[in-house]
Amino acid sequence: MECKKEGNLEECNCSYPGCSRKGLCCECVKHHRERGELPACFFSEKAEKSYDRSIARFVEENS
Ligand code: SF4
Repeated sequence: MECKKEGNLEECNCSYPGCSRKGLCCECVKHHRERGELPACFFSEKAEKSYDRSIARFVEENS
């Protein structure tokens, strides 16, 4: 399967600078899942900029 990084980058809302996983959604999800977190694309633009990727923050934003 071909990597879709370029297309993914067009939709990625993550503003965290210098992350090597940007556009590599499989690695991004794995990284945050291992920490009990969610990727940036689960959060609003404002919440994403806090870099708090916790599930608690996700629930707080969506309740
Ligand atoms: S959400 Fe996390 S792993 Fe994914 S691109 Fe942003 S900083 Fe990197």
